[in-house]
Amino acid sequence: MTRILIIAEHDGQSLNASTAKCVSCAAAVGGEIDVLVLGSGVESIANEAAKLANISKVLLTEAEHLEHPLAANWANEAVDVSEAYSHLLGPSTTFGKDLMPRIAAKLGVNQVSDIMAVDGPYLFKRPIYAGNAIVDVHPPENMPVVGTVRTASWKAVTEGGNGPLVQRAATSSAVSHTRYVRVESGGGGERPDLQTAKRVISGGRALGSAENFDIIYSLAEKLGAGVGASRAAVDAGYVPNEMQVGQTGKIISPDLYMAFGISGAIQHITGIKDAGTIVAVNKDADAPIFELADIGLVGDLFTIVPELEALLS
Ligand code: FAD
Repeated sequence: MTRILIIAEHDGQSLNASTAKCVSCAAAVGGEIDVLVLGSGVESIANEAAKLANISKVLLTEAEHLEHPLAANWANEAVDVSEAYSHLLGPSTTFGKDLMPRIAAKLGVNQVSDIMAVDGPYLFKRPIYAGNAIVDVHPPENMPVVGTVRTASWKAVTEGGNGPLVQRAATSSAVSHTRYVRVESGGGGERPDLQTAKRVISGGRALGSAENFDIIYSLAEKLGAGVGASRAAVDAGYVPNEMQVGQTGKIISPDLYMAFGISGAIQHITGIKDAGTIVAVNKDADAPIFELADIGLVGDLFTIVPELEALLS
C-alpha cells in the first residue's frame, strides 16, 4: 500500500505554503498521507498541518537539535521515520533541495526531482532542458521513492482536514560536523517569500543599478508583493542571488507576475510560465517577453513604475 510522508517546511513560526502543495501532489499519488513536522516549540505549526485536506495524521517531533532546518539533522530524523513509508516528499524549494537529496542518499535511492505531474504511484513527469522537454521518470517499485515536488505545478490543498496529531520522540541526535550559525537574508527583508508570494515584481538589467532597484521595492511594498530579478540583474550586483527567478534561480507561480525591463530569455521564462497573469513592461516592442505576457506595455520603466505607484496610492 502507498504511504506517503511529507516533510513540512516552516520557519518556526508558520507552515510554508509549499507543504500544502506537496499534499496536492501526494493526493495524486494516492494512499495514506502523513506530514512530519520537525522543530522545537512548533506544535502550532503541526496543528496548522493537521488542518490540511487529505491528511491522515501529523507526526510532531520536537528536539533542541531539530530547532533549525539543518538538513544534516533533519535528514537523519526523517530517515528514522521512513521505514513505514513508500514515498517521502518535500517541496522543490531551497529547503527541499537541501534536505531531500540527503534523505535519498541515506536511503540509497535516486531522488525524483521536480515532480510536475503524477501518472501513477511510480510514474512521474518532470521538466528538463529548462522546461523545453518533459521526461517520464519510473523509479523502482521495491525501493522508497524520495521526491521533490515542483511547487509551481501544484495548487495548495485547502484547509478542511482534521488529522490527529501524534507526538513522536526524536530518535536521532545532533550531528557533530555541521552546526547552525544564523540565517542571513539579503534583499528580501520583510517582503513575502518569493516562492510562495501571490504577487511578484521583478526587475532586469534595465534597472541599471542597485539604487534604481528601489523603485521596484517601493512598488512591491504597495502591492504586498515579493521581489525577484533576472540573472542579468543579479550578475550585475543590483540584487542578491536569492532573488533570481528562472532556470538557475527560483521557479515561481504567483497569481500576478510583473516584469520590468526583462527581455524574456528562455531561462527566465522557465521560472515564470506557471504564473497566473504576466505583465511585462519593456521599451522594446519586439522583446520576447511580450510573446508570453498577458498584458504588455511598451515604454520606459522609469516613467511607468512611478506612475503605477502613484495610481496605487
Ligand atoms: P537583457 O536581456 O539585457 O534585457 C533587458 C531588457 O530591458 C531589454 O529587453 C530592453 O529592451 C529592456 N529595457 C532597457 N531599458 C529599459 C527601460 N528604461 N524601460 C523598459 N525596458 C527597458 N536568466 C534569468 O533571468 N534567470 C535564470 O535563472 C537564468 N539562468 C540561466 C542559465 C543559463 C545556463 C544561461 C546560459 C543563462 C541563464 N539566464 C538566466 C540568463 C538569460 O539568458 C538572460 O541573459 C537574462 O535573463 C537577461 O536578463 P534581462 O532580461 O534582465 O537582460
